[in-house]
Amino acid sequence: MPPDRLPTGIASVDRLLGGGLETDVVTELYGEGGSGKTLFCLDVAARVAREGRWVLYVDTEGVSLERLRSVGGSDLDRLLGRFLLSAPKDLEEQGRAIAAACALARDGRRPTGLLVVDSATNFYRLSLSSPEEDDAREALALELAELVATARARAVPVLLTNQVWRSPKDGSLEPIGGSFLNHAAKTILRFDRREGPLRTVVLVKHRARPEGSASFRITSRGLESADGG
Ligand code: ATP
Ligand code: MG
Repeated sequence: MPPDRLPTGIASVDRLLGGGLETDVVTELYGEGGSGKTLFCLDVAARVAREGRWVLYVDTEGVSLERLRSVGGSDLDRLLGRFLLSAPKDLEEQGRAIAAACALARDGRRPTGLLVVDSATNFYRLSLSSPEEDDAREALALELAELVATARARAVPVLLTNQVWRSPKDGSLEPIGGSFLNHAAKTILRFDRREGPLRTVVLVKHRARPEGSASFRITSRGLESADGG
C-alpha cells in the first residue's frame, strides 16, 4: 500500500482506489438514500479510531452515535475515546463545526486520522430556491476550501457525503451542489443500491486511478467486499 493511502478495510474498494483513500485530498461520496454512505464513513472511522488516531466527525443528520454503537461492538468505549463528534443543526453551526475540526486537525496535538462531514449538503439543500441560496452556496464553498487546505497541509483524509437529485433531462441521479463541490473533491465515488445488502461503488473521478467499480455487502459486522476477497 502506498504511504499516502488510508485503507478502508474493504478489499474491493481498496483495490479500486489503489490501496485506499488518498490522505491529502477531499473524497466525495454521493448516492441515493440507503446506498451506504454513512455506513462507509463510520466503518472507515472505526478503523482509524481502533488504530489510536483521532476521528473528527461532523454529523448533520443526527444518526452517527447510534450507528457507531453497531459498528463499534465490544470496542465501543475505546472507539468513542478517539472520536470528536459534532452535530450542527443548521448551516451556520455547520460552518463553525468545520472550522473547529480543521483547527484541531491542523494544531496536531491529537494525531488526526480522518475528518468526516456527513452530510456536507444537508442544510445547503434546504436553502435551494430560497432567498438564502446564494449565501448558503458561498458558505459551503468557504468550508470546502478550508477542508481542501487542511487535507493538503496535514495529510488528513477528508470524507464528505453528498445527496442526489434526479435530473429531469434523462432521469439520472446527480450530486447536489454541482461543479463547485465536484472541483473541491479530488476523488469522487458514487454509491449505488443493488439487491438486498449489496452496494456498488463507482469511481467517478481520481487523480491517479482509472474509472471502475467495486461491490460490497452490508452486514451486521460492518461492510465486506463482495468482489471475491
Ligand atoms: P442517506 O443519504 O439517507 O443518508 P446513506 O447512503 O447514508 O443514506 P446508510 O444509512 O449508510 O445510507 O445505509 C443504510 C442502509 O443500510 C439501509 O438500506 C439499511 O437497510 C441497510 N442496513 C443497515 N444495517 C444492515 C444490515 N445489518 N444488513 C443489511 N443491510 C443493512
Ligand atoms: Mg447517510
